[in-house]
Amino acid sequence: MKVLKFGGTSVGSPARMKALLDIINPAERQIVVLSAVSGTTNSLVEIGQAYLTGDKKKAIILVSALKDKYELFIKELFASPEYLQQGKEVIDYHFALLSNMANNQFTNVEEKIILAQGELLSTTLYHVYLKEIGVSSALLPALSFMKIDEDNEPTVDYITEKITPLLDKQPEINLFITQGFICRNAFGEIDNLRRGGSDYTASLIGAGIRSEEVQIWTDIDGMHNNDPRIVKGTQPIAQLSFDEAAELAYFGAKILHPQSVFPAQKYKIPVRLLNTMDPQAKGTLITHTSEKDKIKSIAAKDGITAIKIQSSRMLLAHGFLRKVFEVFERYKTSIDMITTSEVAVSLTIDDVTYLGEITSELNKFGSVEIDVNHTIICVVGDFGAEKHGYAARVLEAVKHIPLRMISYGGSDHNLSLLVKTDDKVETLRSLHNRLF
Ligand code: ASP
Ligand code: MG
Repeated sequence: MKVLKFGGTSVGSPARMKALLDIINPAERQIVVLSAVSGTTNSLVEIGQAYLTGDKKKAIILVSALKDKYELFIKELFASPEYLQQGKEVIDYHFALLSNMANNQFTNVEEKIILAQGELLSTTLYHVYLKEIGVSSALLPALSFMKIDEDNEPTVDYITEKITPLLDKQPEINLFITQGFICRNAFGEIDNLRRGGSDYTASLIGAGIRSEEVQIWTDIDGMHNNDPRIVKGTQPIAQLSFDEAAELAYFGAKILHPQSVFPAQKYKIPVRLLNTMDPQAKGTLITHTSEKDKIKSIAAKDGITAIKIQSSRMLLAHGFLRKVFEVFERYKTSIDMITTSEVAVSLTIDDVTYLGEITSELNKFGSVEIDVNHTIICVVGDFGAEKHGYAARVLEAVKHIPLRMISYGGSDHNLSLLVKTDDKVETLRSLHNRLF
């Protein structure tokens, strides 16, 4: 049984929603995971923020503006008055919930309930649409099987346990539709898998049902070998290993939620990245194997801050790095890149919430230098320890660009460079021209 996930733009208009049946084969048993209609989650975030800050008036205005969009959406989606009425009831229900939030105390719990409405709306409307055109389908409520634990980690065994009976109980159904992104947390409250989390949902379900394949349908023909918004002539990558895909997704390839690689990897479920606008395009296949001796792709991650800690006490001392890392651990700040010398260590973070606190604690160990507005450029390929020449090719391509950090050998498939964000475009272009 396959799992097919469609992102926000793939359900972004009534026409697009209808066109899903060009891709979905209703005769095949499968699970379809839908995101919210594009733009909806952003609007829900704004609505939640308005309520959180006590600005009920603004919240209500935003709710009614979003509702207007859905009124238009259903007018185009449904052909008959009977189904239009059903669609109307769906949106009335969800929007009443959104505006009634004004009457109660508002906390982070309510905020997450708000964020969940986008996927609940898109899946329910699609289900009603399929009914109207006579395609039989069933809704699988994600809130009954998708769960995260105290550490915000989803549990695949729980998904298997809860989803299997739901599928078994409806043997006559081929097409199951479920919500991406949303889940319950350890307290049983409505929660989510973070922005872009519908990919993660698909991969988790794929793992939970030991799916033959997970397909992530977006609006680009696979993962490209460089950022197509910046570099001309980028190419889709035909095949990636799970490790390569994880690095690329983490370091900037926007097409895939980085965590979504791991459940599929653990249960060896192939993941295919495909394009709704061009369903015949081959896209990118992510599996266990890696193509040998190849530089595959370049990605960039902005908003990086570099921190250098210089200390003569580091010389010949042990335990120094542990003390440094403990500071980051205390402030739940994760480190992306790290390079060391005998008297200094440089590392990068992207979350600067606690930068002030971290800096003042690090000051106890030595002098601290902070460099903001940097970009990690990540080159992914087959760079095993026995290989030679790859680092030279990369460095040759960027010899005219000042490099703040270089990281190589951390894994067999990643070489990362830290450059000023101002130099990002030139770095990406120059690497592209020299490497591909
Ligand atoms: N709708 C959610 C978001 O916009 C989840 C997703 O689309 O993957 O982040
Ligand atoms: Mg996405």
